[in-house]
Amino acid sequence: MAKRDFYDILGVAKNATDDDIKKAYRRLAGKHHPDRHQGDDAKQAEEKFKEAKEAYEMLSDPQKRAAYDQYGHAGVDPNMGARGGAGPEGFGGFAEAFGDIFGDIFGGGGGATGGRRTGGGQQVYRGSDLSYAMEITLEEAAFGKDTQIRVPTWETCDTCKGSGAKPGTSPKTCTTCNGAGTVHLRQGFFSIQQTCPHCHGSGKIIPEPCITCSGAGKIKKQKTLEVKIPAGINEGMRIRSAGNGEPGTNGGPPGDLYIEIRVKQHEIFERDGDDLHCSVPVGLTTAALGGTLEVPTLGSKAEIDLPEGTQHGKTFRLRGKGIKGLRSSYPGDLYCHVAVETPVKLTEHQRKLLKELDESFRKSGDRHSPNAKSWTDRVKDLFK
Ligand SMILES: [Zn+2]
Ligand SMILES: [Zn+2]
Repeated sequence: MAKRDFYDILGVAKNATDDDIKKAYRRLAGKHHPDRHQGDDAKQAEEKFKEAKEAYEMLSDPQKRAAYDQYGHAGVDPNMGARGGAGPEGFGGFAEAFGDIFGDIFGGGGGATGGRRTGGGQQVYRGSDLSYAMEITLEEAAFGKDTQIRVPTWETCDTCKGSGAKPGTSPKTCTTCNGAGTVHLRQGFFSIQQTCPHCHGSGKIIPEPCITCSGAGKIKKQKTLEVKIPAGINEGMRIRSAGNGEPGTNGGPPGDLYIEIRVKQHEIFERDGDDLHCSVPVGLTTAALGGTLEVPTLGSKAEIDLPEGTQHGKTFRLRGKGIKGLRSSYPGDLYCHVAVETPVKLTEHQRKLLKELDESFRKSGDRHSPNAKSWTDRVKDLFK
């Protein structure tokens, strides 16, 4: 059976916010919870519940959602690739989908996501993801850039060796959760597992916290990270640096660092996918007589042969002078839009010449003005 679209399952739009997705899932989970149905009905409800749960798990994870948006089910199907594995078998599915942008840059693919539980019952949490906004120029987006960023990192506290307890004392098992890190709350039909509010999931209480780290067991520092911005990257894209987010809890894996790309507005060019557009001012006489026009390209120059009688708004396409996108085989094109300029600040002599020219034009009717001619004809038709 074909898999249903995750957005359809949750009944939300493709551009739904995280909050919308969460609300839709909660509503469905409540409606289809197996505890609320009996007999055959219960079986169907369970299927629906599972379906909603899967859809929610995919769409609430920014990485998985991005992969799903771009590649559909193939992008997130765990059967199609080894998630969390970076070995040679880790191709296909998610790993492949993001291999070129995430993998190359930091030399390590994969990266585990989601929490898991240890055999001891203590909740293991993956660290939070961090996000870093980076502004680059259009040239850097087009040609790539090697740069460094300063990001927070956490080191094990030397004083307490990571235990969080003052030297000479030791952490005690939390009495609220008996060391499990979680407590169960009953709310109507549901039994909800929650992080223990007393020990915040660690399962331990530190009676005398270490002074150096205030009981955290780790100290926040700064580190420098080499970042390779790949050529062709575009506004809004994210680069993942696996494992450079916040550290996990109870030995859980660290989160990831996401570098979000913002591209500064360019003085000359506007980007549209792989294509570039620019406006080129051309003098009245050059447009009329024709000539060679030098135009800028990204990082270089090119020439356009302007034919005699070039009109305002005429577009010249320079093949391959656009940007080669991350996943493109060929670069896009550069479109130069001619903007004919009316001369200003005329001298007496120039004014006289233009008047003479004007008289000469009038003598031969409107044959020198192709647009005006067809416009006059259309106006005439209107009043027929
Ligand atoms: Zn300490
Ligand atoms: Zn506890």
